[in-house]
Amino acid sequence: MIESLLENQVNFFKTQQTKNVKFRKQSLIRLKKQIIKFEDEICDALHQDFKKPKFESLATETQFVLSELQYVLNNLKIWSKPQRTSSNLVNFPSTSRIYSEPYGTVLIISPWNYPFLLSMSPLIGAIAAGNTAVVKPSELTPNTSKVVAKIIANAFPKEYVSTVEGGIAISQELLKQKWNYIFFTGSSRVGKIVYKNAAEHLTPVTLELSGKNPCIVDSTAKVKLAAKRIVWGKFLNAGQTCIATDYVLVHKKVKDEFVLALQKSILKAFGKDIENSKDYARIATSEHYQRLKKMLQDETILFGGVCNDADNFIGPTLIDSPSEDSKVMEGEIFGPILPIIPYETEEDIEKYISRYGKPLGLYVFSTNNKFQKKIITKYSFGGGVINDTVMQITNKSIPFGGVGNSGIGGYHGKHSFDLFSHKKSILKRGNWLDVPLRYPPYTIPINWVKKMKHLF
Ligand code: NAD
Repeated sequence: MIESLLENQVNFFKTQQTKNVKFRKQSLIRLKKQIIKFEDEICDALHQDFKKPKFESLATETQFVLSELQYVLNNLKIWSKPQRTSSNLVNFPSTSRIYSEPYGTVLIISPWNYPFLLSMSPLIGAIAAGNTAVVKPSELTPNTSKVVAKIIANAFPKEYVSTVEGGIAISQELLKQKWNYIFFTGSSRVGKIVYKNAAEHLTPVTLELSGKNPCIVDSTAKVKLAAKRIVWGKFLNAGQTCIATDYVLVHKKVKDEFVLALQKSILKAFGKDIENSKDYARIATSEHYQRLKKMLQDETILFGGVCNDADNFIGPTLIDSPSEDSKVMEGEIFGPILPIIPYETEEDIEKYISRYGKPLGLYVFSTNNKFQKKIITKYSFGGGVINDTVMQITNKSIPFGGVGNSGIGGYHGKHSFDLFSHKKSILKRGNWLDVPLRYPPYTIPINWVKKMKHLF
């Protein structure tokens, strides 16, 4: 079934229809209409999957996707025009242009934590650039997966864009095929499997992976505001956000004030009875819930630590100075548990950050410009924010993606269009002049040839 689906997509791509920019725009408009039509159903599905609050479903999934879609619609005509660039002297007379050409058939594999956003956002880029696509949503959020499949089936014929639902076995079968591009969002562990499979066919990839994202709060930070912004970014989606703060390194001088501000911000956001707050999500699967619950054993809990097995509920939790070899400091937490680690010197910061691979995000709260600059230039990471968390993802003008362990490639806005396009370079020569210098027999004096670099 997968082989014939891919074959049909290859044949559809060959018809050249997707190369027409009007066709792409009409396709995006059809997608937009379906998303608007099913917006409530998407929110309901997200609620069924992990009690995602409606505000968060709208703000971080559907409206976020619609905003990206509209931005692409507004700019696609300009982006898709061949870009004229300069020619060099040796080619005189000539013109040079860069053509954005679709790769062909694209495979998109998405995770469960933002199951709608992370299926649709790459799909918008793939369509905008003129590709056909197969989307494989996560099996761990089955209700959202179904709505994604319905929207795609309503908007497109299968041979152009389609959904293949299923788990690991289906994903592996899809990865065996020869795609022209693979866009994967998920864990670094599975990212390596995707990369290996893609290498078999020399298929280019984007890997949107994970990391242990540090957040530094120095002694000059606006502590209360920092706490409010960190709490929002950390407990949004119950901490299941790839760019959420993983752990905070706070200067010793302001640690107590900061912890108090964190506690107040949590209570203000979710009240005392957090389990009954309509604004707080659950852990998506019992497997992830158990993994997170184990992290709490033997730790000093500053706040929270409340769990409910019946509902995969883990309340916002602050942990004091976990040891280096504790479970919570092993790898990415990916849940509502926030270790608070005091530091004194910049060497202390380095000791922590350099222990893990390059993170996807890094945040620094400080009013000292020199310190901010030092941190963002010293460490390598996907992207970050000074004096806030998570918000980098909302700016379509900056690419979103990781580096090293946290991924390959960046997307959103024009960066998505560029990512899903091969940049084809075309040099067009004039015929009215043909300088004979390059043709044998070589008669130019060697002394002149030694100055040839000025012609290139
Ligand atoms: P995952 O890697 O387990 O799964 C992602 C997708 O891969 C799913 O569709 C799944 O069916 C498939 N898959 C799982 N195991 C596979 C295998 N062995 N072979 C082939 N396919 C397989 O990730 P997840 O648990 O769904 O998502 C959480 C992870 O994703 C976190 O680590 C998070 O940081 C990361 N993430 C990254 C970003 C980003 O933009 N960089 C965004 C969201 C989530």
